[in-house]
Amino acid sequence: MIKTLIGRLLGGGKSEAKAPRIPLGERVEVPESEHGIDAALLDERAVRVVRTLQEAGFEAYIVGGAVRDLLVGLRPKDFDVATNATPEEVKGLFRRAFIIGRRFRIVHVIFGRGRDHEVVEVSTFRAYLDASAAEQVEGNEKTSKGELAGKSHVVDASGRVLRDNVWGPQIEDAARRDFTINALYYDPTTRIVVDYHGGVRDVKRRLLRIIGEPELRYREDPVRLIRVVRFAAKLGFEIEARTREPMPRVLELLENVPISRMFDEMIKLLQTGHSLRSLEELRKHGMHRVFPLLEVVFNADEARERFIRLALEDTDRRVEEGRAVAPSFMLACMLWHDVQSRWTQLREAGEAPLPALQQAIDAVFDARIGDISGRGKLAGDMREIWLMQPRFERRSGNAPFALVEQPRFRAGYDFLRLRADVGQAEPELAEWWEDFALGTDEERDALVEAVREAQHPSRRKRGGGGSAARDKAPREAAPAAAGVESSPDTPAAEGDAAAPARKRRRRRRKPGGGSDAVTPEPPPSL
Ligand code: ATP
Ligand code: MG
Repeated sequence: MIKTLIGRLLGGGKSEAKAPRIPLGERVEVPESEHGIDAALLDERAVRVVRTLQEAGFEAYIVGGAVRDLLVGLRPKDFDVATNATPEEVKGLFRRAFIIGRRFRIVHVIFGRGRDHEVVEVSTFRAYLDASAAEQVEGNEKTSKGELAGKSHVVDASGRVLRDNVWGPQIEDAARRDFTINALYYDPTTRIVVDYHGGVRDVKRRLLRIIGEPELRYREDPVRLIRVVRFAAKLGFEIEARTREPMPRVLELLENVPISRMFDEMIKLLQTGHSLRSLEELRKHGMHRVFPLLEVVFNADEARERFIRLALEDTDRRVEEGRAVAPSFMLACMLWHDVQSRWTQLREAGEAPLPALQQAIDAVFDARIGDISGRGKLAGDMREIWLMQPRFERRSGNAPFALVEQPRFRAGYDFLRLRADVGQAEPELAEWWEDFALGTDEERDALVEAVREAQHPSRRKRGGGGSAARDKAPREAAPAAAGVESSPDTPAAEGDAAAPARKRRRRRRKPGGGSDAVTPEPPPSL
């Protein structure tokens, strides 16, 4: 008995000290006949990057999500390459290549120019890392024999990896990846898939399985909790019981993830083409509570939830049709009600409408998205979509002509249509704008004239639309615009303030009839 005890103590102690806590697995080469990847789905630029590296004597593979998507027959949206060449060696092989990142250095190889340019991301195989056991040194040199062998990583006291630029062999790189189906390497030359963790089999079983001990891997990087949900929704795969088991226990770790990284994850989640399913999965795992963005979605009343649901369904349909989706539009939809209630509160507290709307938007960005300084375009687009809504109410004078020329008009209009679909704006208003946007100059003039007629049936001619006429316009005649929750004369003020001083082409062509272009009118009824 004593012998067994000593044996257990010695044996136990020894294996605990030595065994890597994340298994390294074993190299298995899966031939084309077994994995069945359709080479026609490959991206020719990624293949070119792999070939260039291989011809220079390096190992190189297409890696990660692209291989996973190819295995299920999806066309990957981006292609990553992994290699045993260091970033400097990669950079030296391509004309337009840039080393980016400090914490995690990689190379961007650029093809094409302007809007159509494409980036192939090349990363060097990383060495095995157990963050809790890492020392506070970094060594990213190759050995004298040219082998990839790092010393250690730079971590802070809590185990968070500050620098992760220690190169290692492919087998270690594979163990670093999150799920078995994401740890696959495809060589387009031999058409072999290299698999260390049974990823090919898991794709066939439609199973999401984390590599190594699940809790350890979630603690290392809590964002993996969101990733597993995203992949489950995107691929329709089951989460393996062992991988699922610790999820509720470690959920709270997500609270320490910077709000901006959470936001990035949310955007990826919304663009999977299964945004509704993704959000439902999040809710199922109780994760919506840690997303400041989702609080508003899931706490919405029925009408608001319907609005968001419609927007997401629309987005998913677009993804399925291979059309582009703008995260700014989706986010504008998700946060609209929050903006609205804050806007109403501020106006009720006596703030003027436009500054109130601006402030409401700032407050929502602050509370739900975090630092938006690095997201100029996204935040700017959302702001424009929202600011355009009250301006749709103004259909007299030059206002509609100026609005339709806004670069983001289409997004603003789609937003209006969605509001009309759920009864937050008059359907006629959305139709009027559709006709106006598609109309010729003459048709546009006629549309504006028709609104005037409806508003002032007794006055058939243009001109003289001064304040007397405006005051007579019945307040209750304003389009319901429940979504806007504004007083009828608010939109006019918004419209005027926000409209850029565009060419006043109507006034030039119709010199006599311009006073209404200057004096805003309340939103007319139809
Ligand atoms: P998507 O199709 O959404 O781009 P992806 O799997 O390609 O999914 P990326 O964020 O592009 O996701 O990451 C590329 C690869 O890098 C992953 O497949 C995985 O191997 C690895 N990876 C990314 N994030 C992590 C992480 N948090 N932990 C471990 N490995 C990761
Ligand atoms: Mg990817």
